[in-house]
Amino acid sequence: MQITTELIQCPICAARRLNRKLLSANSRGARYYTDGYIFPGYPLFVKCPDCGAVFKAADYDVSGETGEGVEYYTPMTVKEYRKAIEKGFANAADGDIIALRLELWRTFHNPVRDADAGERATPWKGAKEKAAYTGNCLELLRLTENCQDDEVLLTRAELYRNLGEFDKCKQTLSLITQSDDYESFIAGLLEACAKRKKRTFRL
Ligand SMILES: [Zn+2]
Repeated sequence: MQITTELIQCPICAARRLNRKLLSANSRGARYYTDGYIFPGYPLFVKCPDCGAVFKAADYDVSGETGEGVEYYTPMTVKEYRKAIEKGFANAADGDIIALRLELWRTFHNPVRDADAGERATPWKGAKEKAAYTGNCLELLRLTENCQDDEVLLTRAELYRNLGEFDKCKQTLSLITQSDDYESFIAGLLEACAKRKKRTFRL
């Protein structure tokens, strides 16, 4: 696992913080999950603690300048992602809204991705969060509707499974062309479908 630290400067107020970035996860220590999250995951988007702006960290990398005594960003919460999606953020490009929604989806899963049965069973707390979780999954499915890329299909299959649409999950998996590359992932999802298990889990 190769990790690097980058010095990031807020595009709005110029406050600086550090962010870690995973360069490669092809070694021991990495953990893979069915929603595409890789542990240790580092944030793609960050929220400036000084002015509250949300932006893509990599776009404002000023590494190379001195960053002594600078603190790290705190990972964004479900609430913060939801607000950023509602409000938009600095210099958002087309693919960014999908990326931001994927990060929200994975952030919802964090409290339950390693939980055993018997602990908190759902990624949401309460009816309002459940509606936000479901709405985000549906919006991601809509935004990726015409995409036939294998990795996107895996994401779509997992979204369907999270929503309890097991037949649609299986049908989406059957569209994957390079299925040999994703053998264990596909097998894991099919097994979970057979058990009617919705929750994201470790592969
Ligand atoms: Zn700022």
